[in-house]
Amino acid sequence: MNRDTQIFDIIARERERQMKGIELIASENFVSDQVLEAMGSVLTNKYAEGYPGHRYYGGCEVVDEAENIARDRLKQLYDAEYANVQPHSGAQANMCVFMACLRPGDKFLGLNLSHGGHLSHGSPVNFSGLVFQALDYSVKESDGRVDYDELEQKARAERPKLIIAGASAYSREWDYARIRRVADEIGAIFMVDMAHPAGLIAAGLLDNPVKHAHIVTTTTHKTLRGPRGGVIIMGKDFPNPWGKTTPKGEIKMMSALLDSAVFPGTQGGPLEHVIAAKAVAFGEALDPSFKVYQAQVKKNAAVMAQAFVDKGYKVISGGTDNHCMLIDLRTKFPDLTGKVAEKALVAADITTNKNMVPFDSRSPFQTSGLRFGTPAITTRGLKEDRMLQIVDFIDTVLHAPESEANIAAVRAEVNRMMANYPLFAW
Ligand SMILES: *Cc1c(COP(=O)(O)O)cnc(C)c1O
Repeated sequence: MNRDTQIFDIIARERERQMKGIELIASENFVSDQVLEAMGSVLTNKYAEGYPGHRYYGGCEVVDEAENIARDRLKQLYDAEYANVQPHSGAQANMCVFMACLRPGDKFLGLNLSHGGHLSHGSPVNFSGLVFQALDYSVKESDGRVDYDELEQKARAERPKLIIAGASAYSREWDYARIRRVADEIGAIFMVDMAHPAGLIAAGLLDNPVKHAHIVTTTTHKTLRGPRGGVIIMGKDFPNPWGKTTPKGEIKMMSALLDSAVFPGTQGGPLEHVIAAKAVAFGEALDPSFKVYQAQVKKNAAVMAQAFVDKGYKVISGGTDNHCMLIDLRTKFPDLTGKVAEKALVAADITTNKNMVPFDSRSPFQTSGLRFGTPAITTRGLKEDRMLQIVDFIDTVLHAPESEANIAAVRAEVNRMMANYPLFAW
């Protein structure tokens, strides 16, 4: 067959789009060339249902080596005892934990989705909310931080079997130890979904939840800067949900439950090409240069958040401890929705996403907020001075979001700036 120019032209246009714009979506990043190369490799041809050394197909000896390296590097990165690198995505990693720890109809407690929680933590249109009974805790309206008092009260009153910490739009450090205490008090399993800050945690810039939680899940493609995918890890401490003890110790049992929840519970064959790319990304994250990168991600986010505050924007919680921030537009532009703001910024080649803010007066389709993150632009090499310029660009666009001329002027400056930051070696 002839080369598929229809699709490769689209890929070329997407490459161009990524190069010329300012990428501020907090959950996105740019992988290295070697991560990309591993993902686009012949490993995609291999079926390998099962786990290294215990496969349902022949010829897995070579991919077994890659998967073992991925697991070992991941354990080293987070000081973990158990790792499963097969989940195809973060949501699937979470689904596996639900399957291993709960029975249909069981109660669990997670952060309110309109306060930053993820849809796989109990949305009524997601398996988590459809199959299980989802309860939630909130952030406080006064300071935008998790309401731990409410979390404790709900945990004691409702006695959920699982408590989840972690979020998609929360800019502050978590008090994992406090949640662990109440989980122990009521006999619940404590899971942390560190999908967003996983890279900062790997670099030692935020508290490592593996020390506090029974089970930790994450995506590999956000701050961690690996291929699109999920993983599950456990530390030295682990739950024993069925009240059984085994001669070999409890960790054996929970690891077996999680492994079989991934395969055959929720997935068939693993994506060995993606697992090899995960191994490459974990190797990069173990390199000292990764700490330098994550420190810059955090510095850039702090400078950006302060620049928004200085221009009169309301930043939820007043700032950020990590890579992201949530802006409530209502303070500065009461009539501007997140939807309109997102569209205008995207037209100026500044990519961001509209987001609900806690206690939002608008619907999820309109929203009053925007979410920004610095992982992707930091990968491109932008430093603090550029953060100030970017906030200027955003402010200029939002002052006249309907003006084509205004947007075109900013877009030209954005493209000129980003031409100084090459992205791909090829
Ligand atoms: C992004 C995210 C996920 C889901 O990741 P996918 O790979 O898109 O399924 C899960 N949990 C949290 C907290 C996230 O932010």
